[in-house]
Amino acid sequence: MINNLDFLVCPECKSQLHKNTGTELQCVKCSNKYEIKDDIPILLPQNLEEFKVLEAAYHDQEAHQYAEINMIDSYHVTHYIEKYLNIVNTLDKNSILLEVGSADGNDANLINNSGITVIQSDISFGMVKLAKDNKKINSQTVYVVSDAEKIPCNDNSLDAILIVATLHHLPSPINFFKEARRTLRPGGLLIIGVEPNSWPYFSFYPFIRFVKKIIRLDKYLKSKHSGISIGDSETEGFSYSDFKLFLNESNLKLVKIQRIWFLLGFIHTILSIINSKLPSHKVIKIPTFLQKILIYIDELILSIPIIRNFCWHWTLVAKKNNN
Ligand SMILES: [Zn+2]
Repeated sequence: MINNLDFLVCPECKSQLHKNTGTELQCVKCSNKYEIKDDIPILLPQNLEEFKVLEAAYHDQEAHQYAEINMIDSYHVTHYIEKYLNIVNTLDKNSILLEVGSADGNDANLINNSGITVIQSDISFGMVKLAKDNKKINSQTVYVVSDAEKIPCNDNSLDAILIVATLHHLPSPINFFKEARRTLRPGGLLIIGVEPNSWPYFSFYPFIRFVKKIIRLDKYLKSKHSGISIGDSETEGFSYSDFKLFLNESNLKLVKIQRIWFLLGFIHTILSIINSKLPSHKVIKIPTFLQKILIYIDELILSIPIIRNFCWHWTLVAKKNNN
C-alpha cells in the first residue's frame, strides 16, 4: 500500500496534510479540512467557482455513457492515444506522473509502465470513483479529486503531467500551464493529448446546429445523452497561436506538436451526433480498414503548409527547462 499523502499537499497553501480521522484530512499550516470519500481525498479549493461546480456535476452524471458516445475504442481515436501513451510508457522507473482530468481512467488503464506512480485526478468525484473501480493499470496509483488550476502537489515534484481532452474544459488554461510549470521538476514533461482546434467552433459546429434545427432532429429523436457539459458548450478550442501564448506565459518549451484528423473530423462529428440518438446495439462504427485509409489520407493533407492548421485536434509535448 502506498501512502497518498507522500504525493499530495494542501491545494491552497501547498503544505503537508495530516489525517484527522479515516474520513478527514487537515492542512498542517492553513488548517483547511478536506473530506476523504471512499478512500479518495477531495482536495478542492474552499471556494470553487460556479463553472467548475457545474462541470463536476455534469461529469458525475455522465460518467457511465462517456466512452460510448465519444467512440474512444475506435481505431481513429486509439491510434492517437497510443502516440502520447508511448511517451508515458517510456518514462524512467520511479517517475511520478499526474493525469489531470483522468475521467473514467480509460487512458491510464492503457499505461503499461509498471515502474511509475500515476496520480489520477479529476474534478468530478463520480469519474474518479469510476476510474478507481475500473482499475486495470499495473502502476502504483493515487486517486484524488482536484482542480487543474490548483494542483495539490509540491513544487518540482512531478516528472510528467498528462492532460487529455481536458484543457478546453478549464475556465483559465493559462492558470493550469502555470501550475504545470510549478509542479514539474526541471526537465519534466507536459503532455497535452487531443485538444480541439478552434476553427470548427466558428464554422462547422454552427452549421451543424443550423442543420439540426432545420430537420428538427431533437424533436423526433430522443437523445440518451443529457446535453453537453458547460465546458463543451463554452469552449472555442485552441489555435496554434493560443498554445504558443500559453507556453510563452508559463515559460515551457514546445518539444513536439502533432496534428490530428482532417476528413475524419467531419466524419467523427456527424457519427457522434447520430450515435448519441441510437440505442447501444445500433451504434454505427466505421470499419477499421477504412479508418486506417482515412488516417493515411488525413496525414497527407495535414503535411501541407497552411492547410495543416485546419486539423481538428492537437497533441503537444512541452518541457520545463532547467533554468
Ligand atoms: Zn493549507
